[in-house]
Amino acid sequence: MASQTILVTGAAGFLGSHLCDALLAEGNDVLGVDNLCTGNPANLEHLAGETRFRFEELDICKPFDLGRVDFVFNFASPASPVDYMRLGIETLLVGSAGTLNTLELAKKYGAGYLHASTSECYGDPEVHPQVESYWGNVNPIGPRSVYDEAKRFSEAAVAAYHRYHGVNTHLVRIFNTYGPRLQANDGRVISNLMMQALRGEALTIYGDGSQTRSFCYCSDLIEGIVRLAKSDEHLPTNIGNPVEWTILECAKEIQALVGSHCEIAFQPLPQDDPKQRKPDITKARTLLGWEPKVPLREGLAKSLDYFKACVEREKQ
Ligand code: NAD
Ligand code: UDP
Repeated sequence: MASQTILVTGAAGFLGSHLCDALLAEGNDVLGVDNLCTGNPANLEHLAGETRFRFEELDICKPFDLGRVDFVFNFASPASPVDYMRLGIETLLVGSAGTLNTLELAKKYGAGYLHASTSECYGDPEVHPQVESYWGNVNPIGPRSVYDEAKRFSEAAVAAYHRYHGVNTHLVRIFNTYGPRLQANDGRVISNLMMQALRGEALTIYGDGSQTRSFCYCSDLIEGIVRLAKSDEHLPTNIGNPVEWTILECAKEIQALVGSHCEIAFQPLPQDDPKQRKPDITKARTLLGWEPKVPLREGLAKSLDYFKACVEREKQ
């Protein structure tokens, strides 16, 4: 994918900004767009003097065309449960109108296309670990449905543009990912627990903490996604770290890292909170020769300075 012009939607977000860095490092020209509804311009500040990077503030739910592009990475969408429940209608719109608008651009310019889908397509899964052939267990009207069903609609739209219009599409199902630039206050478990531990507050565990997640460090995820974009695979592909943690175990890792002896504050489990989640990454391993390299303890340590800086900023 060297020396292409690449559109990244959601560029000011956690993953979008890391993706821009990776694409620029490969020698591409990158056009980042974002409406900043959950993103942070600070995530792109380090690119201020980069002549191959351009940023436009816009909402992808309205049709837009900023000129020819060779590839589209569609990462725009609120992603944290707190954000997408606050921005429910916006989340439905970006997953529907936003995805269709970006697919139209790919069709118009004959560009490649990769959509950031999610493990939430599996809902509260009855198949464990989750393999791509599993169709999922989603409550279509529950509080999480604005996100889950928007992402499932996006997958249908991406598959249809490939089927009807021959667009060279790719679908990645991303599992919980963390690292520097994760929004400090977006309510996701890693950001909440890291911030709480550094502030010396009690760590909030929803339910009894026995529910599981599998946490992937951001650089591992981006590497897998860039490989998928260069592949010939059109069907959904899981990218995530298959090592499964209970939320209580994850809290203990953070306590050990930060050296805090904070209490654990158990709070009610949100409705429809998936009980378990772990990717089957056999397909990514065999198709892309990819697997994650950074274990949770190391990834949390790599993220510590970022979260410390967030806590310091709060004090100012
Ligand atoms: P994020 O909230 O940090 O980034 C999303 C970005 O999209 C933000 O900068 C936001 O302002 C932008 N955006 C939202 N609606 C928009 C619109 N209408 N027009 C333009 N920009 C818009 O979240 P993230 O964690 O970086 O997630 C990026 C993508 O990856 C999302 O599509 C998300 O669903 C997907 N994903 C993330 C994870 C994860 O663990 N981080 C897991 C599964 C899927
Ligand atoms: N969670 C928690 N404490 C928090 C935030 C989240 O126990 O302060 C739990 C949440 O209920 C879920 C898991 O951690 O079971 C992961 O939540 P997150 O919002 O990070 O992502 P999800 O995978 O649910 O989309």
